[in-house]
Amino acid sequence: MASPEQLDALEQAANAMSRAIYRRLTEPLADRMESRTRQRVLDACELTMRRISDEPNFARPSRFLFEELRPYFPLYEQLWVRTVVDRHVTIACEILSRLPRQRSECGAFTRAGESCRREPVAGSEFCPSHRHLEKMDSVG
Ligand SMILES: [Zn+2]
Repeated sequence: MASPEQLDALEQAANAMSRAIYRRLTEPLADRMESRTRQRVLDACELTMRRISDEPNFARPSRFLFEELRPYFPLYEQLWVRTVVDRHVTIACEILSRLPRQRSECGAFTRAGESCRREPVAGSEFCPSHRHLEKMDSVG
């Protein structure tokens, strides 16, 4: 089972990543950006990091964040925003994917047809009893 310390580590990493993107995006514009807008930028960064850590199948996270952010930046800065977002989100995905998930449950069903609630093996979607299912997946 993931210990409380490990869950903390995931949350802390997600927060640190949100802050890093936020600072990178807002510091150069600090004197031109209202605090309300800065808050929205931070909210978008936090939402994206939370989704990356909670949703293993979250598709195209950097595109998602960029779409959230673009209303707050002038057109001529959007290429720069996109670059910053891409770079940071790539790193964040790598770091967050190495940490344990918060709601980790085996992806299989029991013989009774209910979701298996056991903890998956590290690096796997399945618990020890259902791990063979993963091998079948990768063969097919
Ligand atoms: Zn299982």
